[in-house]
Amino acid sequence: MSVETEQLTQNKVAVLDHGFLALDGALASDLAVVNGARVSFNSLADEMNEKDEGLIRFLMRERHGSPFEHGYFRFIVKAPIFVVREHHRHRAGHSYNEWSGRYSKMEAEFYVPDYVRTQVGKPGSYSFEPVEPDVREAAREEIRAITEQAFEAYERMLDQGVAKEVARMALPLALYTKYFWSCNPRSLMHFCSLRNSEHAQFEIREYAKAAEGFLERVMPVTHAAFVEQGRTAP
Ligand SMILES: Cc1cc2nc3c(=O)[nH]c(=O)nc-3n(C[C@H](O)[C@H](O)[C@H](O)COP(=O)(O)OP(=O)(O)OC[C@H]3O[C@@H](n4cnc5c(N)ncnc54)[C@H](O)[C@@H]3O)c2cc1C
Repeated sequence: MSVETEQLTQNKVAVLDHGFLALDGALASDLAVVNGARVSFNSLADEMNEKDEGLIRFLMRERHGSPFEHGYFRFIVKAPIFVVREHHRHRAGHSYNEWSGRYSKMEAEFYVPDYVRTQVGKPGSYSFEPVEPDVREAAREEIRAITEQAFEAYERMLDQGVAKEVARMALPLALYTKYFWSCNPRSLMHFCSLRNSEHAQFEIREYAKAAEGFLERVMPVTHAAFVEQGRTAP
């Protein structure tokens, strides 16, 4: 195993049944936030002190957001396509590059939900409750059967010489894909505030929880201030 691969394994969080979120690299720190703010007074610090922690809390509270943009997180994500559609709606300060189903064959890996739920309530105030065990097993079986059938159709078309970009049209939203995702701490906080939330769909929330865990690990003071401000990005 190469050093890079070993490092990646340590920074990898398993998400859903076959997915993951891995921190591939980070150039981010609480100190960079402090220095981004202190440059206004032509001063820079080499290490954090208590006053600097107060400064981060002040910046978060007053929503002075730009000092939180001097950082960079690069993740590798493996997620089902319906999660990716939600994730890639986050535009400001985010970059993505995804595995291409036009250029290479997709793999037969599909998400089969463990948490099968029913939707209760009205639009705008839905809540979700687990279904009965027999309904859950039947739903899981439906998803398993249709995804297997779809992948067989995909492979049949490829065998007959149909282009990958056409054959993939048979593949369902539960298919796993992989992509690079990079963002700055401010955009990461905005993503976490919207998606690590009880209003977000369970599946993307699992990814957002993992992402917030990395934010906390790399920028503990910033993360604590974010939580203190009700998890609203500055
Ligand atoms: C619970 C939930 C339910 C959702 N349901 C739906 C749905 O039913 N249908 C649907 O289509 N989407 C839905 N979304 C997606 C949502 O509308 C946003 O597209 C997504 O959350 C990204 O948020 P954002 O635009 O704030 O983030 P970003 O794209 O990262 O933008 C960050 C901020 O930059 C500013 N900004 C970015 N682009 C512009 C712009 N073009 N003009 C002005 N300001 C800009 C805004 O201040 C924005 O908040 C849902 C999201 C959530 C969390």
